[in-house]
Amino acid sequence: MNVVIAGAGIGGLSLALELHRAGIPCRVLEAVPRIEPIGAGINLLPHAMRVLHDLGLEGRLGAAGVETKEAVFYNRFGQFVYREPLGRRAGYDHPQLSLHRGDVQLTLLAAVRERLGEDAVTLGRRVVAAEDAGDHVRVEVADAVTGAVAEERATVVVGCDGIHSALRAQLYPEEGEPRYSGVTMWRGVTPWEPFLSGGSMVRAGWLASGKMVIYPVREDVDGTGRQLVNWVAEVERPRSPRRDWTHAGQLEDFIDVYADWRFDWLDVPGLIRGAETILEYPMVDQDPLPRWTFGGVTLLGDAAHPMVPRGSNGAGQAVLDARALRVALQECDDPREALLRYEGERLPATTSVVETNRTRPPDTILKVVYERTGDRPFARVEDVISTEEMAGISESYRKVAAYDKERVNRTA
Ligand SMILES: Cc1cc2nc3c(=O)[nH]c(=O)nc-3n(C[C@H](O)[C@H](O)[C@H](O)COP(=O)(O)OP(=O)(O)OC[C@H]3O[C@@H](n4cnc5c(N)ncnc54)[C@H](O)[C@@H]3O)c2cc1C
Repeated sequence: MNVVIAGAGIGGLSLALELHRAGIPCRVLEAVPRIEPIGAGINLLPHAMRVLHDLGLEGRLGAAGVETKEAVFYNRFGQFVYREPLGRRAGYDHPQLSLHRGDVQLTLLAAVRERLGEDAVTLGRRVVAAEDAGDHVRVEVADAVTGAVAEERATVVVGCDGIHSALRAQLYPEEGEPRYSGVTMWRGVTPWEPFLSGGSMVRAGWLASGKMVIYPVREDVDGTGRQLVNWVAEVERPRSPRRDWTHAGQLEDFIDVYADWRFDWLDVPGLIRGAETILEYPMVDQDPLPRWTFGGVTLLGDAAHPMVPRGSNGAGQAVLDARALRVALQECDDPREALLRYEGERLPATTSVVETNRTRPPDTILKVVYERTGDRPFARVEDVISTEEMAGISESYRKVAAYDKERVNRTA
């Protein structure tokens, strides 16, 4: 058996580490010639951290990021709405971590190279097609510099090639572009004094009149105790911007929305203005697919189930896919049967997450407050929404995304 993994993102690298652990040979082909720490913050929730702990990476990731202690919700006037503990503070056996996406990718990449060897990941190799030939798969791979296409053979090919997946496009040529949710996101990271608990994930406001997601992703970045703070400004806009992770955003396109967001615990416009680079990206997802597996070819992570980032679950679900695929390959004699078993487990599970991220993710709390107050300040939050209703929204999402405490701690 040999597995070709298309894409060295969080999903592809987690899969390589899982397969190595099971003694299954694999190699990773990555389209970009250099892995740069592009992007901003991501969260790894306790279900994904359990898998990464078993891979021996909890310590390294913990040292790179910030342990998330609580989720806190505010309206756009800075009025407190709701707070709940997260990760270990909520009784999980594993932490919730907030990290720079680049730190996660580079940590995983270093572990893959240490354990599988320097040549386990080949950069500058774009997988352009995978053709099932009955007992093996023929993979077409283009050199990023010369464009020359070479053919390779594998028992199994896994498309971990993200939202722009070439393999998904090959399997579903009629599918078309990812679906724009009507929300544009501007992201950045800014060195800033710790605020609230120093590990708070803040969600404030609502998409129609401007929402922010803010949390620290690196500790003490300059020897003065300042953290690197990730912020995402999310605003409804009729037209989708370019779907390119490296596309630069312009401050003047969104800063007015946040001009008076000066809370006693955070100066939001100051935080935004402090970022060296601003990235602009549309909030997109795709309708769930009926199947991912075609013979010896399957999909994983964003290539299989891209979701709008409203539940901090994109990276984590890719990590869970990697674990499930490794277990199936380890336990089934026939690799093709293993791919079907993996799909049978993970496709329905991730379909529910994709759908719930559209309809009822945790920030629904802020939508309810926005609607019931008519986007005006309230006198008492209890008159708008009860703590039980907010806790219920949060808990039902945890169940859908499979990180309710009982399940995560029990599985451990
Ligand atoms: C550059 C970049 C920046 C991002 N920034 C953020 C962010 O700030 N916040 C956030 O929440 N999410 C971000 N994401 C998305 C996030 O990483 C994913 O939602 C999640 O981690 C699931 O990961 P994945 O491995 O499935 O996909 P991805 O992380 O998208 O990884 C896919 C990998 O496949 C490679 N690839 C693409 N096509 C091919 C091909 N044909 N052949 C070989 N390799 C290929 C890509 O270069 C990439 O390395 C970013 C993704 C990328 C690629």
